[in-house]
Parts: sequence; structure tokens; C-alpha cells
Amino acid sequence: MSGSEINRRGFLKLMGWSAAGAGLAGCDLPSTVTLEQGKETVMSYLSPEEYVIPGIGVWYASTCMQCAAFCGIHGRVREGHALKLEGNPDSPLNRGKLCQMGQAGIQGHYNPDRITQPLLRKDGKLTPIGWDEAWNLIGQKISNAPGERFAWVTGTVSGHQAVLLAAHIEAMGSKNHFAVEVIGPHVGRAVNQDMLGEAMPRLVLDKAKLILSLGADFLGTWVSPTHFATEYAKFRSGSRGMLVQVEPKMTLTGGNADLWVPIRPGTEGVLALAIANVLMKGGAKVPEAAMAAVSAYEPAKAADVTGVSAERIEKIAALLKEHSPSLVLAGAPVEGHAHGYQAAAAVQLLNIMLGNVGQTIVSAGGFPFPQLAAKSGGTRDLIAFADAAKNQKLDVAFFYGANPVYSAPHFLALPEVLQKIPFKVAFAQFPDETAEAADLVIPLASYLEDWGTHVAAYQPEEAGITVQQPLMERMYKDTIGFGDALLKLLKLGKSEQYAAWEDYYAYLRNAVASLPAEYKGDAASDNVFWNQTLQKGVLKVAAAAQELKPQVTEIRLPDAQPNEGYPLYLAPSAQLGLWDGRHANLPWLQEAPDQISKVVWDSWAEIHPATAAKLGVKEDDVIEIASEQGSIKVKAYLCKGVHPDVVAVPMGQGHEAYGRYAKNRGANVLKILNPVTDAKTGELALYGTRVKLANTGKNEPLVIEGRGNNSQRGRKLVATISADQFRKTEGA
Ligand code: SF4
Repeated sequence: MSGSEINRRGFLKLMGWSAAGAGLAGCDLPSTVTLEQGKETVMSYLSPEEYVIPGIGVWYASTCMQCAAFCGIHGRVREGHALKLEGNPDSPLNRGKLCQMGQAGIQGHYNPDRITQPLLRKDGKLTPIGWDEAWNLIGQKISNAPGERFAWVTGTVSGHQAVLLAAHIEAMGSKNHFAVEVIGPHVGRAVNQDMLGEAMPRLVLDKAKLILSLGADFLGTWVSPTHFATEYAKFRSGSRGMLVQVEPKMTLTGGNADLWVPIRPGTEGVLALAIANVLMKGGAKVPEAAMAAVSAYEPAKAADVTGVSAERIEKIAALLKEHSPSLVLAGAPVEGHAHGYQAAAAVQLLNIMLGNVGQTIVSAGGFPFPQLAAKSGGTRDLIAFADAAKNQKLDVAFFYGANPVYSAPHFLALPEVLQKIPFKVAFAQFPDETAEAADLVIPLASYLEDWGTHVAAYQPEEAGITVQQPLMERMYKDTIGFGDALLKLLKLGKSEQYAAWEDYYAYLRNAVASLPAEYKGDAASDNVFWNQTLQKGVLKVAAAAQELKPQVTEIRLPDAQPNEGYPLYLAPSAQLGLWDGRHANLPWLQEAPDQISKVVWDSWAEIHPATAAKLGVKEDDVIEIASEQGSIKVKAYLCKGVHPDVVAVPMGQGHEAYGRYAKNRGANVLKILNPVTDAKTGELALYGTRVKLANTGKNEPLVIEGRGNNSQRGRKLVATISADQFRKTEGA
């Protein structure tokens, strides 16, 4: 298609560049990439076959899609097969590093439980069918779907797939896009937007002399873990910044902290206000709107509420004052309550009072192409989708990249309310719970076999668009890339503008060629630029930074309510591994020990030894954890890295489907969450459920790496310091 067939504005919208002025250059012949014999190098996927030498690996740049951080990857390919993934050093997101979830992406690609052909529900059972039947059926159903009675339910989408997805929703006459993510700083983004004017400002970890993190597991599961792990290494080098972690259950970040402080869940906002109170008495200016809240929490009063001693509160405030600039972060345990927004606002207040805004928190600027920006709606979208289904507002729903049937708590009754949607199509790679509930399943290519562009919601300096290219040919001929599926849907819907692109590759190729010239550097031609882009794996499109303008509104925190019937707080903890359950079908990640408990292949409950003693629970006892919404049975793991009022159960297990490695293993903690949402944003209060424990009388050993050996036996595997040294550092 050429730009002359439609007007220029329309063309740029189709290509995703609608916010920028652009001139379209023509395409020319491909350039070549040299490869020294015997030396492995990074190539463009389009390089001719003579550059592939038997026995010599070739590396291709692409994008990790194991979480929404969208790190850059290099994939090693030999004789046409992807063998190994590593981080792309040219990606400003991960600078050559790759987390274990990223490494395990190769197992998703070769997973024996992949769906390899279209499936249609016949007589209650998903049955293989041909492509013609599948597309004919979809064409017939969507031509009858009246506008708002159609919906897409996805995970985070961005880049040109987001452009095509939005175009499809528009073509359907609908506005229904439910972008479901269980893990993500959804409440924190709202707080940032209101208090700083930007949802995702840039965090300059290495400029901070101290990081006070209230439950932000930035080395594990928070925002962009691989990026923050690389930034953390800089923070710890040189003059070595100090890390203080306050949280109800020790996370990977907490395990790395200089000072780890357990806190009663839901009271982190009170702690932040008490620290602000101490700072105020030391001369720090408190914004007028927050004065009443800050004045209300003397350290002694906050100590009663939080379980953190007044001395420790004073000490943390003193450390913040001594180590300027600092950085204060709020994570999921802060946000996951009915007052999550207010608590996260109290934490952000500290950054404003400490003068961190403009120093360690700076503007990321607006992404220059909003059509391509990441779209992620959190658990509020999960609730809204369940509500639409329950009230019979939908006739057709398409699913991609999300597994709402697994993620939804019992109170949403999703398996039942889905029955009220007459036609459900899952675009899926695996037979997960949502695919199993669909009427039609469209088999997707793996992300290592597909084209795409992606934009991370968190943009560090020099970030931009990460480019996804296939590392190898599709393993199953009857699978389809998601971009190709979207193009096909647009064509079925008679969106004429898309008719000229034979496939998603042709569309993407044209989109990159039509990128505004100022982003193309000194490339001699479009094809040179395309090859460079594929080799680098990253398209840098600088965003214009602005000045952050801090604003504080009134902060109100509720008093903690006792709950005699359900005395403990449930902490459904996220793990760098199984994540929200999406990686439970990857044996490497099942086998990788949890970073704190070292448990593998199972669910467990972390309980403080003092609490366990009171309840008569021993290690490995099978306990029943009950909320008002139901119960799960898991094995007890006793550890001091959890507050005595908390029972922490990791997310990720308890699948009823999802292939041989995931099915019928452990328990799904998300199922027993109470119907509590954050009052301001509507996000599910992940940490807002109270539970009680009962011992079932059974004892079944967990598989724990290194069990029975909690001591270093003089081997100094982990650096330790004496109590005297500790007191000098921490001063407690
Ligand atoms: S954080 Fe890990 S899983 Fe997520 S995109 Fe980066 S490497 Fe992949």
C-alpha cells in the first residue's frame, strides 16, 4: 500500500505514528550484513541463508514477552532452531541482562502442551477444525455482534499490535477493551498521575543515597525487575547506597536490604505519615493539605498501629535526613487495600517533603506516539469484565494474553458468568483455564516465532520501542501470529484500509519505513534502517521530558478494624518465577527455588514461628486457610521473614488446566480474596483479605532446596556481620 491511497493523517494513524509529523520514504533493496566465519554475531532475520553456517550459532535481537517490562533479548539460533536467550546489551531496559522468567521463554516455545490447530467446541468438547471453518465462524459471529456487545479481554498490549487491536475494536463499533493484569503498580500510577502529573516517572536509583521501599519488590516483581536489578547494582557500587525495606512478608528485595522491617499489612501509610511527622519536627516543610494527617501520627501512636517501634520510626526518619537525596517507593502491599490509594499517597508525600522529586524522581516525558503506548488496566478491568458478562451485556468476547478464569476470585464467579456470553474466542498458545472455557480457540505462534513492536509502560532513559522478530520458523504450520490474526480480523470486518497488506510483517515493515525521518538517524535508506532496527532490536524515540509539579491533596487513613473471626492477614505474594500464574507451565520455573523459602513445585504458606506455635502448626503441616470467600489447603513453611499477623501464600499454582506441568498442583490463593477494592481506583485489594487457619492433622513434606541446612557451617556463603557492626551501621 502506498501513502497516496488514503490521506496522510489516516495513513499515519494506521501505522501508529499519528502524533508525529512524518514523511514516507519509499522502500529499496535490502542491505546485507557481514558475518565473519566462525564468529557468532547479531543479524537481521532477513539476512540471506548463506550467512547461516552449520554448527555456528547466530544471534537475533527480539523482545522478551514473559512480562510487560518488554526487555530486549538476543536469541541464539543454530541450524534453524532457537537454543538460548540472553539480554540485549543495546536495550536500555535491561542492558544485556535477562531474568529467570526471560530465560525460561525458550521452554514456552518448545512446550509439549502447545495448541497446534484451531479448536471448536462440539458436543461440549474442544475439537480440531480447519482454518476456513474457524474464520468463517468468526466472520459470521462478528458481523452479527452489535457494537458495544463485543469486547476484547487482553493482558498488556502495546506497539503495533495495540494499534491494530484498537482499530479492530473501533471497526466493531465498540469501546470494550478490558486489559487485565494482576501484578502491576495500578494504584501507584494513579497516585503518581495526581501528585506528580505523570503516571510513570523515571526513577534514578543510582543517584539515591538511600532507598526506603515499602513493599516495592523492585528486584523481583515490581514494574521492570531486570531494569531495576541493573540500576540497583549501580546504586550499590561506589559509595554504596543503603536499602531499607518495610513489608509484611520478606521479598527478594527485602532479602537484599540492609535493614528489613516487618509491618502489619495495611498500615504502611500510617508509617509514612509518622516518618513525615518526625521530619516535620526536624524542620521539613509539610504541604498544607497533608498537615492534619501528618500531625495525627506521632511515632508512639503509629507504633501501636503498625507494629514498628517508635524508636525504629525515628531511626528511619533520621536515616532519610542523613542520606539525601533518597528515594521512597510503595509496592503492592501498600496499594492492595481499600485505602491503597491514600496509603500510596502518604508514601509519595515523603518524596515531596524530602525534595526527591526532580532528583531521584524525574519526568519520563510523554511517549511521542500514544497509539503505541502500553495499555494495561489491572484488576479493575477484570471486575468490570465480569460485571459486563454477568449483566449479559456481551454477545462476543475475544481473549488474548490474559487468563481471567484463573485470575478471578471466587466472588466474581467467572466460570459461571462466562456462560452468559454466547461466543467466546481464545487466541491462545496453551490450553489454560480461559481457553478451556472458550467456544473457539485460535492457536497462536510463540513470541519467538512472531513479529511485533512493544512499548514498556516504564521507560528508562533512551528507551523507546523494542522490536520483536522471529528467531526461527513456526514449529506448527497451523499456528498464527497475533498481529496476523488481528489483520485477518480487520479484513473480515471489511476494514478496507488493511486489505493491501498481505500479512503483519508487510504492515510492520511499512510502519517502520514510515517512521518520521528525525528518528531514523543517518540510515542511507529505509531498508538499511530496517536492517539496523532488526539488528539492534530497539527503536529509540526520545520522549520530551517535562518538569514534575508535585501536588498534595488531603490524605485520610482509616483506623484498623479488628476481625475476631479472621485474625490473620492474607498476603498473596508475587514471585519472580510463576508470576501471576502465567509461568506455572514452565518446568524450569517450577524447579527454580522460591528466592526466600527455597520451595519448588508446590504451594506453601509462610507463617511466623510464634504464630505457628500458638496455632499448634508445625513445618509441613497441611493447613486450611479460610476467608469469607472459601478456603485453600497448603503446607506450612515456618520462617521469621513474615509478620506474626500474616500468612503469606505465593501466587501462581492451583491451575485446573494449563498443561501437564501446571495442572492440579498446589492452590490458587487468588480464589479466596474478599470482594474489597481500592476506594479511589477500583483495583482489587490484593492484601485486603483476612483469614483464619486450621490444622488438618496431615503432614506432607514440601520439597525445599537445601532443606535441613539453614546454617552456613562456616563456609561464609553469605556475607554476615557481627551484632556490634550491625549496631554501628543501623544504630538500633
Ligand atoms: S523482567 Fe524478565 S520476564 Fe519481564 S520482560 Fe524483562 S527479562 Fe522478560
